Amino acid sequence: MSTHPSIAIIGGGPAGLLAAHHLAQAGHRVTLYDAQATVGRKFLVAGHGGFNLTHSEPLPTFGKRYGAHHEAFATYLAHFGPEQLRTWAADLGVETFVGSSGRIFPTADYKPAQLLRAWLARLAELGVVIKSRHRWLGFMSDSPTGLRLRDEQTSEEYTICPPAVVLALGGASWAKTGSDGHWTAALAAIGVRCTPFAPANCGAEIVWGAFFREKVGRAPLKNIALTCAGQTVRGELLLTDYGVEGTPVYALTPALRVALDQQTPATLWLNLKPDLTPNQLVQKLSKPRGSKSWGAFLQQVLHLGPPVPTLLRELAPPEAITGSAESLAHLLQHLPMPVIGLRPLDEAISTAGGVAWEELDEDLMLRRRPSTFVAGEMLDWEAPTGGYLLQGCFSTGAWVARAISGFIQL
Ligand SMILES: Cc1cc2nc3c(=O)[nH]c(=O)nc-3n(C[C@H](O)[C@H](O)[C@H](O)COP(=O)(O)OP(=O)(O)OC[C@H]3O[C@@H](n4cnc5c(N)ncnc54)[C@H](O)[C@@H]3O)c2cc1C
Repeated sequence: MSTHPSIAIIGGGPAGLLAAHHLAQAGHRVTLYDAQATVGRKFLVAGHGGFNLTHSEPLPTFGKRYGAHHEAFATYLAHFGPEQLRTWAADLGVETFVGSSGRIFPTADYKPAQLLRAWLARLAELGVVIKSRHRWLGFMSDSPTGLRLRDEQTSEEYTICPPAVVLALGGASWAKTGSDGHWTAALAAIGVRCTPFAPANCGAEIVWGAFFREKVGRAPLKNIALTCAGQTVRGELLLTDYGVEGTPVYALTPALRVALDQQTPATLWLNLKPDLTPNQLVQKLSKPRGSKSWGAFLQQVLHLGPPVPTLLRELAPPEAITGSAESLAHLLQHLPMPVIGLRPLDEAISTAGGVAWEELDEDLMLRRRPSTFVAGEMLDWEAPTGGYLLQGCFSTGAWVARAISGFIQL
């Protein structure tokens, strides 16, 4: 191991831990600081909903999930992509599998906490020192890499001057996991521009009437398609008392944010029967209804049970429902849902915004602070759920470790 002073990693989420892992493997001394009592808290939260580590999509399509930054992410993914992530997990004794949706998960035998425990044990073997309850406060003005920290147990403030620094402080949602986004003030103090945070991968708010809220409460709508501003996503929607949740809504948050900036409410168009053509739908709805109620008829001919009739009554004028087969068919495939806003930032699965790209060079080093690198969700990018978030954090963590290994000669 190197006799140089330790490289400092600030933030013990997946990005910081992976940077620490790669640097220690390359023979560097590494100390990781985290403000919380334990590291990897959001990583564990991510595990509650199925622990979707990455995705099996081919790299060219995978990279496009990072929107405007797809070219940069293509480079990071080429260095440390889904295959490398699976090898990394296997090396920690955790096997992974590709689910039917193409998402990659650890096999059922592994709980998120087991993976984290195995990882921390490996880091300890590699000599990585983890200082929990040590909060980064900002930069020293009279030292190019100097940092100010506080021991949260003793409240003692102190400084360190490491040869290189990785900032991996996360986004600004789920503050209880430690990712509170307060770090923007320290970066602003040295003139680094950050794009304001905005919720990503979050629910959308719709003002339902009291009857709807009471009758429907929470209900899933399976196999639907949702459209916003020309972008359509298939999946399962969850109706809630405050609006809608679910993968299609999460994937449409960037489009919804733009639409909401232009007008309120913005519209989400719901297609309840995306596998039928309009003609097929009209044909089915043209069958004799007899004495059946509209609800029973929809259940019989289209298998659209509760809560669909209540939803139609809530969102559409009565004549569109009880008029012609054509008008009902159109409604079932173009039901407008008026969105008044996104759910609060703290509830979001991830955050858009963060350190602006023009502040960074191709190694993800701060132009204003050479030897200080940035990785993970604190960078200004967003991606849909499906493993793209964790993969983005791992890949940028690996990328900054590669860059530091290149300029600190052992
Ligand atoms: C409910 C939920 C489910 C999710 N599910 C998935 C999923 O299935 N798949 C997926 O790909 N992604 C998922 N994600 C997203 C994923 O967990 C995050 O994108 C990822 O954890 C971000 O990693 P990070 O290393 O950038 O930061 P974080 O994991 O947020 O870690 C940042 C660390 O920095 C520390 N820190 C902050 N400020 C300071 C300071 N001043 N000093 C010292 N330390 C500090 C924090 O304590 C924290 O430990 C989910 C997120 C949530 C909330």
